[in-house]
Amino acid sequence: MALSKTASESDVSVHSTFASRYVRTSLPRFKMANSSIPKEAAYQIINDELMLDGNPRLNLASFVTTWMEPECDKLIMASINKNYVDMDEYPVTTELQNRCVNIIAHLFNAPLGDSDAAVGVGTVGSSEAIMLAGLAFKRKWQNRRKAEGKPFDKPNIVTGANVQVCWEKFARYFEVELKEVKLRDDYYVMDPVKAVEMVDENTICVAAILGSTLNGEFEDVKLLNDLLTEKNKETGWDTPIHVDAASGGFIAPFLYPELEWDFRLPLVKSINVSGHKYGLVYAGIGWVIWRSKEDLPDELIFHINYLGADQPTFTLNFSKGSSQVIAQYYQLIRLGFEGYKNVMENCRENMLVLKEGLEKSGRFNIVSKDNGVPLVAFSLKDNQLHDEFEVADLLRRFGWIVPAYTMPADAQHVTVLRVVIREDFSRTLAERLVADINKVLHELDALPAKLKLKAEAAVASSEEVKEKNGDVGDENSSELKTQRKIATRWREYVKEKKKTSGVC
Ligand SMILES: *Cc1c(COP(=O)(O)O)cnc(C)c1O
Repeated sequence: MALSKTASESDVSVHSTFASRYVRTSLPRFKMANSSIPKEAAYQIINDELMLDGNPRLNLASFVTTWMEPECDKLIMASINKNYVDMDEYPVTTELQNRCVNIIAHLFNAPLGDSDAAVGVGTVGSSEAIMLAGLAFKRKWQNRRKAEGKPFDKPNIVTGANVQVCWEKFARYFEVELKEVKLRDDYYVMDPVKAVEMVDENTICVAAILGSTLNGEFEDVKLLNDLLTEKNKETGWDTPIHVDAASGGFIAPFLYPELEWDFRLPLVKSINVSGHKYGLVYAGIGWVIWRSKEDLPDELIFHINYLGADQPTFTLNFSKGSSQVIAQYYQLIRLGFEGYKNVMENCRENMLVLKEGLEKSGRFNIVSKDNGVPLVAFSLKDNQLHDEFEVADLLRRFGWIVPAYTMPADAQHVTVLRVVIREDFSRTLAERLVADINKVLHELDALPAKLKLKAEAAVASSEEVKEKNGDVGDENSSELKTQRKIATRWREYVKEKKKTSGVC
């Protein structure tokens, strides 16, 4: 989204080092040029500018896949011109998406008979999946309230304050109140007891997270299911559960098959997962699966019958690419259960290498869990002189992109750094990162000392001057002023840095 412009020379035109071989005039930046340019020049200009983006493989801020096998890249390029929505023209692609839905539904233990088709849909990501799941809950609740002759204008969702921003978007866009269970010190996920206390007759669902974005921790969906079952019995309500398994949906089935978080729990009516996170596909795919047909109100489904067979659709957008669906199917058949399990076990082992390396430094508190999403979230034991934002900033110099952010209410005084371990993050890289973090700590330790030494030197030299001249103290020597300026600028710079954070 382009909401603002910053005024600088490069706003006016776009230059390229090499494009001058093909074009002599520069391009306007925000207006369409009158004339065309050669294709080589267009390529060169864009390619040059993109060199300044970070390296996706070193982007440790994101769960989203940055490496796939060349064979799959080939399939992606071959289908890049297929519009997914043209189901009559590309029935095989539609069939592949349906297979993916069924495979994932079985992975999540949907109660399906041998001849039952799973209910679910491929989306652009978990965000779209969550919008669809939320709309289904809202409509079901409204239908029930209408039938009971009760007001249906104040729907709410109960979640932890640690929810991903897409839930806040859903709440605002579709006018549902978000009731957030506050976090507390040393407990950074939704407390099921408090969540169930917050449930009322207007609650369309409780959303639990399998893999909190902030520290990767799995929320206790089983306890939530049990407590909510009791409350439903007492009140006569029928409050369901949605599980946001954006990051954990492809972890738990392989690493923790005994953990009950999915459709094995009767109140879990829908689950979303990001195919582009641990589903191991490039950005642009998510999935939402419903427990059964009854959990997806029919009036939300549009029916297309171009195929002769009925093709129900429930999405927010119409046209989209097919490549991601095809790539997801590739991963599911290429890796199989065994392959996914190996990848997830590797990720977990590399997470432990990184975690142990950080613990060895003695400088960090680890706020992630060993049995969640493979990531390490950590904060400085002592951030008086230098904080996590400065660590993140200095790590960029080594090429690492590690985000720092503050926790939501009521743990906002805690700042953490987070490193997500993906398939392409090797053990060597983990060890390298530990070494670089230690270097950064060293550098930071020296930083105030450097400033202080300079200031002291300045004082000493002014003392010398004083002694020589028999003068009175010069508190305002220009050198002292310079030192103070350096210190002030550094503080301002740090404050500015604190405003930025980006995790996804
Ligand atoms: C990443 C994430 C989302 C958003 O998913 P996208 O696939 O990026 O749209 C939602 N919830 C959680 C818990 C996440 O980690």
